[in-house]
Amino acid sequence: MCGIVGVVNNPEASNLVYLGLYAVQHRGQEAAGIVSSNGEKLFRMRRKGLVEEGFKKESFTHLKGPMAIGHVRYSTTGDNIQRNYQPFIGTLEGTDVSVAHNGNLTNFKKLKTELQMNGAVFQSTMDTEVILHLIARSSKSTLQEKILDTLKKLEGAFSLLLLSNDQFFAIRDPWGFRPLSMGRKKDGTVVFASETCAFDLVDAVFERDILPGEMLVMDRTGKATSLKIDKKVKTSQCVFEHVYFSRPDSQVYEKSVYQTRKNLGRELAKEHTLTADCVIPVPDSGVLSALGYAQEMNIPFQMGLIRNHYVGRTFIEPEQSIRGFGVKLKLNPVKSELEGKHVIVVDDSIVRGTTSKKIVKMLREAGVKKITMMISSPPFANPCFYGIDTPNKDDLIASKMTLSQIRDFIEVDELRYLSLEGMYKAVGTTHETFCDACFTGKYPV
Ligand code: AMP
Repeated sequence: MCGIVGVVNNPEASNLVYLGLYAVQHRGQEAAGIVSSNGEKLFRMRRKGLVEEGFKKESFTHLKGPMAIGHVRYSTTGDNIQRNYQPFIGTLEGTDVSVAHNGNLTNFKKLKTELQMNGAVFQSTMDTEVILHLIARSSKSTLQEKILDTLKKLEGAFSLLLLSNDQFFAIRDPWGFRPLSMGRKKDGTVVFASETCAFDLVDAVFERDILPGEMLVMDRTGKATSLKIDKKVKTSQCVFEHVYFSRPDSQVYEKSVYQTRKNLGRELAKEHTLTADCVIPVPDSGVLSALGYAQEMNIPFQMGLIRNHYVGRTFIEPEQSIRGFGVKLKLNPVKSELEGKHVIVVDDSIVRGTTSKKIVKMLREAGVKKITMMISSPPFANPCFYGIDTPNKDDLIASKMTLSQIRDFIEVDELRYLSLEGMYKAVGTTHETFCDACFTGKYPV
């Protein structure tokens, strides 16, 4: 997962990056970091926890300069230890280079072993560090050429922001697995972010996506050159960004996530025309698809589960005897809207199946008579190797159980999934330019 934000051509670049990181906080909550450049050197701060925990007013007097990059971390590769927090900095001949990475390199182990055999010493257990080693070892003469040379060797998912003393680089892997967009403020400040919701917060207007295989190089005034990573591969943008991961107020791959999610619900209605007393979402992931389904079917939409927004990432469980404590802390059913009813519960996906099982139990205890579970994507049966944190194949319920077995396991009366075709109709595209390996098992690399 992870979220990245960059700012060029603004005297308060690090402050704007900090605001942008707030907007992409849902992409990672383990650690946050910012690196800035004043044209001569880099300044860095990295902290464990949420963005608001990591930075103080004084942080921004330290993070000087008109260019900055930032990162919020969700570990997919490497452990949750300080030396794995991003952005990383490497000292190269003539300049320091910093990197913030969203994605996962699939040839990381091979590259790391080759580098270690040639004497490289690694500071972290992160795939991202190989990028700095490869740049340092490139035989090309300019930094720009060294980076381009390195990018050709990388496989897998890498949306990257790089910062040297006097240059800024925004990069998307040739497959385009993870999003990366560019926006601009009226005063000429250029902003980069994993998701466009970050632009709204800093009053920037979306300009365009960084294209799959593009490396955009900028000086500190925002003067840009666009270069291409010379690699012919099939564009494979992650469809799960639209299904679950991105914020609905973002445009991802130039499409509104809000619209897509509502369309997923509408497509569910076309494929599964059922009746019920009400449609309820699993908040927040199922809200818009549930709304789309309810509107299309003309069934009342109810917030039958209320989410507590103050539940942190960790909590101390009092006693084993309080069943389903984790889910209870986060969600609470509204008995008055549920008692004696047939409800259609909508969520985006079932991964392990444990959350759904607990929610169903909770709804039954609240007096629900009949439960139909609707999932606004196809069965999630394959792990992601491109930066979404998913369990091993063996832990994915859809990889080892049939539809009726899953239905019995989570103890619902009916279980319906959206088809692959329905999902693409909702996104408004064909599968041609997307990666749907988590649903189909067809891995682009
Ligand atoms: P479970 O089936 O218990 O693994 O939980 C699945 C729920 O977690 C889904 O309904 C999603 O809302 C959410 N989810 C989906 N993918 C992920 C992921 N990669 N990491 C964390 N939560 C996820």
